Amino acid sequence: MKVTLITHTPQPEKVVAAAAKLCYSDQVDIETLMQSLDDEDAVSAFVHKLMTMHHESPLEHVSFTFGIEGVSRSFLAQITRHRVASFSVRSQRYCSEDAPAFITPKPIDRDSAQKDEFANAMQAAWMSYNQLVEMGAAKEDARAVLPNACETRMLVTMNARELLHFFSLRCCTRAQLEIRTVANEMLKVCREVAPTIFEHAGAACDQLGYCPEGNMSCGRKMTLEEVLKLAKANESVDNGTADFSLHVATSAWLIPPEKCAKTATKPSKETPCQWTRHLRPDGR
Ligand SMILES: Cc1cc2nc3c(=O)[nH]c(=O)nc-3n(C[C@H](O)[C@H](O)[C@H](O)COP(=O)(O)OP(=O)(O)OC[C@H]3O[C@@H](n4cnc5c(N)ncnc54)[C@H](O)[C@@H]3O)c2cc1C
Repeated sequence: MKVTLITHTPQPEKVVAAAAKLCYSDQVDIETLMQSLDDEDAVSAFVHKLMTMHHESPLEHVSFTFGIEGVSRSFLAQITRHRVASFSVRSQRYCSEDAPAFITPKPIDRDSAQKDEFANAMQAAWMSYNQLVEMGAAKEDARAVLPNACETRMLVTMNARELLHFFSLRCCTRAQLEIRTVANEMLKVCREVAPTIFEHAGAACDQLGYCPEGNMSCGRKMTLEEVLKLAKANESVDNGTADFSLHVATSAWLIPPEKCAKTATKPSKETPCQWTRHLRPDGR
């Protein structure tokens, strides 16, 4: 698997800041507005504020184009469910599939018996494919016997708002390993290019501070239901003064810790959500 950032909107955070500021700047032409955004620290602080406020539409002005190679068509089926994105995918009509090229899922690859069974199935599929082509079938028809494991490559373009959404779903442990690995790679490079935009990006629980998956939760973070239940049961803990919603939000760094001064256990950068962590019954 290989994930490459092919290109992105130049100065993405400046563009996002410009888009947001333009909405509120009376009597300022766009050239002057752009010139007023030369201070990188000020831009970063402003974008941080936008992210905190969930003012997300300016993020749509910046996009990132990735090359993704060495992935399966199962992955293709999953990533193309994200409709606010553009895709160009290696064609099975115009490109030859005569040599077996497939992705073995990591868990199967680690078990030698499963790996052998998998390889046998791949051999059989490709034998049928080649046989059908030899018998005169068109490639676009013969490909119907090829498996989901068939290797593919693609270019994918998403804007930053969609990327945040994509990461929230696909960096989650519920997402399959292949797409999760790709999503984490994409996130890593996005963070290098636009650190403020992607500072809190990741699985939904990392963005929200709690897990929205209900009883499908992996347990890494408490579900909202668990959080509220504990809050109710432990009203007297923490001097009873903790502002619960602030604690939850702070654990995802949506609200700067200094704004949480009224909470009894003031969150710090190292321990962003002390109160909920203290209360977690299994000590996680
Ligand atoms: C763990 C996991 C398991 C899944 N299992 C299944 C499954 O079993 N079966 C299955 O079919 N899919 C499954 N999916 C795919 C899932 O249902 C979504 O299709 C996919 O994640 C894309 O999400 P999205 O629609 O939010 O995102 P995008 O298509 O990227 O859209 C982004 C956002 O834009 C808005 N939007 C986009 N299009 C519309 C529209 N037409 N109308 C209104 N609002 C719109 C929505 O707010 C949406 O969240 C699974 C996904 C995950 C992460």
